[in-house]
Amino acid sequence: MRRSLLEILACPDCRAPVELAGVESEDDAGVVAGNLKCTKCSREFPIIDGIPHMLPAGSGDD
Ligand SMILES: [Zn+2]
Repeated sequence: MRRSLLEILACPDCRAPVELAGVESEDDAGVVAGNLKCTKCSREFPIIDGIPHMLPAGSGDD
C-alpha cells in the first residue's frame, strides 16, 4: 500500500481521514503490513499483504 494512498482513504464509519498507526513491514511499493487508524473515532484497520482492510463496523469482523 503506497503511503500516498493515505490521502484518499477515509474511515468507513465516520469518513474522517486515517493515519498510519504502525508499520510492521515495508518494501519499495509501500507498507506491506501494519495498521491504519481513524483520526476521529480511533478505529484501527489492518494492512495485510499491502492491502488496507477497511470494513464498516458491524460487518462481522469485530
Ligand atoms: Zn472513524
